[in-house]
Amino acid sequence: MNIHEYQAKNLLKGYGVKIQEGIVTDTPEGAVDAARKLHAETGTDWYVVKAQIHAGGRGKGGGVKVAKNREEVKEISKQILGMQLKTHQTGPEGKKVHKVLIAEDVYYKGEHEPKEYYLSILLDRAKGCNMIIASTEGGMEIEKVAEEQPDKIVKEWIDPAIGLQPFQARKVAFALGLEGKAHKEMIKFIQSLYQAYTAADASLFEINPVLKTSDEKILAVDAKVNLDDNALFRHSDLAELRDISEEEELEVEASKSGLNYVKLDGNVGCMVNGAGLAMATMDIIKLSGGEPANFLDVGGGANAQTVEAGFRIILKDPNVKAILINIFGGIVRCDRVAKGVVEAYKNIGDIHVPIIVRLQGTNAEEGAKIIEESGLKVYSAILLKDAAQRVKEVLQ
Ligand code: GDP
Ligand code: MN
Repeated sequence: MNIHEYQAKNLLKGYGVKIQEGIVTDTPEGAVDAARKLHAETGTDWYVVKAQIHAGGRGKGGGVKVAKNREEVKEISKQILGMQLKTHQTGPEGKKVHKVLIAEDVYYKGEHEPKEYYLSILLDRAKGCNMIIASTEGGMEIEKVAEEQPDKIVKEWIDPAIGLQPFQARKVAFALGLEGKAHKEMIKFIQSLYQAYTAADASLFEINPVLKTSDEKILAVDAKVNLDDNALFRHSDLAELRDISEEEELEVEASKSGLNYVKLDGNVGCMVNGAGLAMATMDIIKLSGGEPANFLDVGGGANAQTVEAGFRIILKDPNVKAILINIFGGIVRCDRVAKGVVEAYKNIGDIHVPIIVRLQGTNAEEGAKIIEESGLKVYSAILLKDAAQRVKEVLQ
């Protein structure tokens, strides 16, 4: 699960991580109030207005702007609130901005130049442990830095049994070229950040930029947080931060029916039991000349209800030109699934795309028979290669 920047900063702050202070609001008037409050608390006269959407690259897209007084805070908030913000992470349609974070401008305070760093903690799945990635090239896309200046990236792996050791935090701070007060601050920053990361059961904390202010303080100016969905049951406070309006509509609907669905851009919808078989099915779709429109794992116990829910979700995607159902009858019997498919088809009615059903395993032949005798426009196949051939034919 993703959360907004303002929520992520709150989480960080709770663990003693220094952040750029701010107040979230959804109106231009609220923005002015927020600026007034920030002025009272921090003495700041300059502010930064930041669009709150679940995507990075907001600055480049015009979603992060500096305001030099409260009038400008109001004007800029007016522009940003309600805008369809496009960044390299939102897709071409962009994302509507419902909230802005009014933050203290932390850059131009003293006579020294502020400096931006990159710092993240994430799960290294290949090594099976968490790692820290840091770079002096903050504010930039880390993928670009990794490609063009790989020597500017520092990595540190953390032994899960021991946790982050003080020497590791020091090592990272040294690698970033920090000295004196900023060095000490960075060590504390990294340690608190790691504490927050493990406590929240996160899979990614990306702080870009981490700022060294002109008075040598280290603080988080941005915060991207991914939480592990499978651990949310033990973090009811964090689970409440979910913003469904930021999520793919069909994915939200699928999760309500207990389906594991990920929307993709292709033209062949697929419904499969088991994640591994679903991946293999997507490969088969590609090999047969189509593009998968989704990933959908209906789980081990596919029945009429789950099949119908899956059908409905796939059919809502206007790009879908054909549907491939690929079920292995292990726990579930193929004749039961076939009955489910026929029933769902009749219940939904008015299905205008061809459906190819490949049932294999227990009672596969009985299943194929049920489908053939239903009189519906559903193609049945027992072998995957026949199913793929069918997909090819219907796409032509
Ligand atoms: P992102 O573009 O979605 O990653 O959003 P960020 O929160 O990282 O903000 C984008 C950029 O805005 C940062 O890299 C900074 O250069 C700039 N920025 C953020 N906060 C401030 C601030 O307080 N003052 C100034 N002058 N610039 C800021
Ligand atoms: Mn950023």
